[in-house]
Amino acid sequence: MSVYSKLVKPELLLQPVYQPGKPIEYVARELGLDSRSIIKLASNENPLGPSPKGLAAGKSALEEVHLYPDGGCYELVNALAQWLGLQADQLIVGNGSNEILELIGHAFIGQGDEVVIGQGSFIVYKLVTLLFGGKVVEVPTKEYRHDLRGMLDAVSDRTKVVFLASPDNPSGSANANREIIELAESLPDSVLLVFDGAYSEYLDDPPDLRPLIAQGKRIFCTRTFSKIFGLAGLRIGYGFGDPELVALLNRVREPFNVNAVAQAAALASLEDEQWIEDCRKANYRERSKLEKQLQSLGIEYIESSANFVTARVGDGVDAFEWMQKEGVIVRPLVPYGMKDWIRVSVGTEQENERAIDSLSSYLNR
Ligand SMILES: *Cc1c(COP(=O)(O)O)cnc(C)c1O
Repeated sequence: MSVYSKLVKPELLLQPVYQPGKPIEYVARELGLDSRSIIKLASNENPLGPSPKGLAAGKSALEEVHLYPDGGCYELVNALAQWLGLQADQLIVGNGSNEILELIGHAFIGQGDEVVIGQGSFIVYKLVTLLFGGKVVEVPTKEYRHDLRGMLDAVSDRTKVVFLASPDNPSGSANANREIIELAESLPDSVLLVFDGAYSEYLDDPPDLRPLIAQGKRIFCTRTFSKIFGLAGLRIGYGFGDPELVALLNRVREPFNVNAVAQAAALASLEDEQWIEDCRKANYRERSKLEKQLQSLGIEYIESSANFVTARVGDGVDAFEWMQKEGVIVRPLVPYGMKDWIRVSVGTEQENERAIDSLSSYLNR
């Protein structure tokens, strides 16, 4: 490391290291378990998998992978535009919405710029800010919910970007639509609000910032195909905002950032509305059960608006390790300053039962 420490950009050394949910194969190797006996409830993936129509479209696109993908994602962009009631030039597709968040950093965050986020918010906002030499201004939450007035107050004349996710990860909590709209309306024009709607599809009534975008407010929204659409492994997400902003992001985007299989699968998944509706209902049903079971075990949890539940188990790493030995992978939340907590993605009925059994055996150890 010391050889490169003079060469490397200094801000890189300030970066916390992102710890992803552990892949099943990794845990199987590490603990000598049969991978088929392991369940992963650690990355908020869709336990029912992708839409069968999406999968079929992806498989057929695989036949053509000797060709470069469509760099502009023409068909998908137009389908999304129609679906959202936007113009095609208001949309950008990325290699996961994570890439789009990074494009925001490329385009807008420089040395010394301030970026306002809520405490314990999705860690990528912090990573992106630090990567571009920005300064993170973290605003304490109130009862595990972002304090949007507090975030507005934290904006200074050095603030470039405010990142907000609702529902957020890892808390699972959501802010009320009127609060979100109020924040979006109140921010000065010198600040860009990036609203991350990774879990929007799980809400009955997601906040709608499109009218404010149309009025010229500085707002950019991101969404993903990784969660309810069940395409996390293909890496595809999108964002929308003003055409001028999207054009700026396109300048920093690499030409072929989204692969052809992902584009085809996303397009067909978007059109499979019944599948998405079924997944939403299944998530709601299983999440309620999971919350009730946590309650009966006497475990505190944060009321979730997403596809996971965050629970206070005593020592998060200890519980995580215990459950992992029993073949249930969950997520400890130390990197978020929540050492007493774990995050459990809502799985299938059987998966959730195993998670609850394992948690209960942990409590009785
Ligand atoms: C999972 C998640 C994302 C999605 O990331 P992708 O790169 O699209 O897979 C974005 N934001 C939040 C808050 C998330 O939890």
